[in-house]
Amino acid sequence: MNRRLRKLVGTFAGHGVEGLLVSRPTDVTYLSGFTGEDASLLVLEEEAFLLVDFRYTERAERESSGVTVTEIRGKMTDTLSGLAGDAGRVGFDSSHLTHGVFGLLSEKLGAKLSPLKNPVSALRAVKDDGELALIQRSVKVAEESFLQLKKTLRSGMTEKDVADEVEHLLRRNGASRGAFPAIIGSAENASLPHHTVSDRVIEEGDAVLIDMGAVLSGYASDLTRMVFFGEPDEEQRKIYGAVLRAQSLGIESAAAGRTGVKVDAAARDFLKDAGYGGLFGHGLGHGVGLDVHESPVLAPRSRDTLETGMVVTFEPGVYRRGWGGIRIEDMGVITDSGCDLLTGLPRDIESARTETV
Ligand code: ZN
Ligand code: ZN
Repeated sequence: MNRRLRKLVGTFAGHGVEGLLVSRPTDVTYLSGFTGEDASLLVLEEEAFLLVDFRYTERAERESSGVTVTEIRGKMTDTLSGLAGDAGRVGFDSSHLTHGVFGLLSEKLGAKLSPLKNPVSALRAVKDDGELALIQRSVKVAEESFLQLKKTLRSGMTEKDVADEVEHLLRRNGASRGAFPAIIGSAENASLPHHTVSDRVIEEGDAVLIDMGAVLSGYASDLTRMVFFGEPDEEQRKIYGAVLRAQSLGIESAAAGRTGVKVDAAARDFLKDAGYGGLFGHGLGHGVGLDVHESPVLAPRSRDTLETGMVVTFEPGVYRRGWGGIRIEDMGVITDSGCDLLTGLPRDIESARTETV
């Protein structure tokens, strides 16, 4: 077994299980190294089995470490029940395994099944040095791509044109793909935090929200910048300033031992006092790793406490229907005494203007 698997086995007693069936593809990658989509990992106390069908056997053997690659013959549930045997109680990821598979498993498996909520997420939340290096590279690619993008932006482009350019630049700069479909929200479209793109033509005077990220060696980055086409007006300046201040307060309050609730509140309370209370409708941030959204969560209802080595975003926003929205998003790694930013793009409003209009 490798180090990550041994750590996972160390959590079994706390969950009251003697084994764990891992089905989320990024969890399987994290624990075994296998990057294919279609595999299950059965982790028992002494041995871990990576279950793949014959199409993936060779790839699984090449990529994985610490696991016994097991080719599924016949039904997956038969192979699984043969391996799990009398394992006692086996946990499974209730937020990932489908009801159908669960039904089959509970029929076939001799072991008892125990639903667990995202049982690998706590391990994944704390990054090791190798992971931090990969995340930093992913951030660099996103930042380089953003700077190159900014040089190409001009009024007359549609949101979709910009999104296509983002995807193209990310790949050209070394990403295997975008971490998610880029969000390009121009003018009033920016009031929808998860607007993706439309055919709206960007005009002089528009504020455009650009949220983008890369995936590199499996690891994601996530970054949001505003771009003002022309001179920002007074309202845009005022709100941009408030969002930027809120973000700085969030970053300053982050450190090992702080709760996700507290860090979120540092930004949220400032925006509330500044008169934007109801207009920041999502959490301050989230973990980033093999998934672009993972543990921990910085939000009013978070149950997480920050630990050294966690990677999180800080992304306050103010959204007003019919007007638009302003969000700034950076990523940092939590340390014993604070937080080191992984992103390095300038955040002041003068840097947020297009170079050509
Ligand atoms: Zn984002
Ligand atoms: Zn984000």
